[in-house]
Amino acid sequence: MLDIREYIIPQSLEEAAALVRKSPANRIVGGGCWLRMERRPYGTWVDLSALGLDQIHAEDGWVQIGSGCTLRMLEVSELLRETFGSCFADCVSSIVGVQFRNCATVGGSVYGRFGFSDLCTLLLSLEADVLLHSRGAVPMEEFLRTPRHGERDLLLGVRIPQDGRRAAFAAFRRTATDLPVLNTAVSVSGASWRIAVGARPAAAALARQAGARLASGAAPAEAACTASEELRFGDNMRGSGAYRKALCRVLVAQCAGRLKEGLR
Ligand SMILES: Cc1cc2nc3c(=O)[nH]c(=O)nc-3n(C[C@H](O)[C@H](O)[C@H](O)COP(=O)(O)OP(=O)(O)OC[C@H]3O[C@@H](n4cnc5c(N)ncnc54)[C@H](O)[C@@H]3O)c2cc1C
Repeated sequence: MLDIREYIIPQSLEEAAALVRKSPANRIVGGGCWLRMERRPYGTWVDLSALGLDQIHAEDGWVQIGSGCTLRMLEVSELLRETFGSCFADCVSSIVGVQFRNCATVGGSVYGRFGFSDLCTLLLSLEADVLLHSRGAVPMEEFLRTPRHGERDLLLGVRIPQDGRRAAFAAFRRTATDLPVLNTAVSVSGASWRIAVGARPAAAALARQAGARLASGAAPAEAACTASEELRFGDNMRGSGAYRKALCRVLVAQCAGRLKEGLR
């Protein structure tokens, strides 16, 4: 059973931030899909839904996605599809089911920094910034490296440069709605390629040498081999490091191949 003392819907960011700072038992709630599984007593759940953070819009050369947007909103957004291709739909459409994706939010998915996160991998490849209440815009790569422990900020959203970049996403699951064994995303903007690999099982990381190889004209399979050599993979109940390394070669090649096809 959930043990929550209070549920508050603040009317300003300052009020929300003050509630979160007040006690480590107070937590921001997105969809609550993950929070409800952590069996611990909570003080106050702080719901940001009155603060207008559930918008996806383009402004001043960025596409901005509010932290209150659900995964389902990413899946069906015309703006995201037109701007970046089908990568957002491809990324989230295997996460449990539609009802779940109507609840789980961008805030909960990104702030959690879960190693398995499909969305974090895609955002890293797209060179996104996270928008934090206290620290402002922070590059996704730096954010993923920052230990979450003890940090109590508010994630307001994420922003992605709107400069014609496109991305492709692929993940492998042992069964349809399980967590991914490995996920990969590749983006291209002009001559610059970025390859991100997540669920290693550690958090997503960039394969820079492999990206540079794609930029200098290497075939997708060659770059994918480089990615599998430069990144580290570990074991967990879903697969061994050696298996993940083999998957990396396949999934990165698939993503890069799809993008190269699209550029022809
Ligand atoms: C059964 C199950 C299967 C899943 N499968 C996958 C999968 O295959 N791939 C995948 O990528 N993900 C998967 N997830 C994770 C899921 O996509 C969401 O990331 C997760 O449920 C959190 O989203 P939420 O909105 O429910 O967050 P919540 O549970 O509400 O919050 C999660 C954490 O984030 C914090 N938080 C939430 N919003 C903010 C904010 N705006 N600012 C600061 N902190 C915030 C909360 O305090 C909490 O610590 C799975 C989750 C479950 C429960």
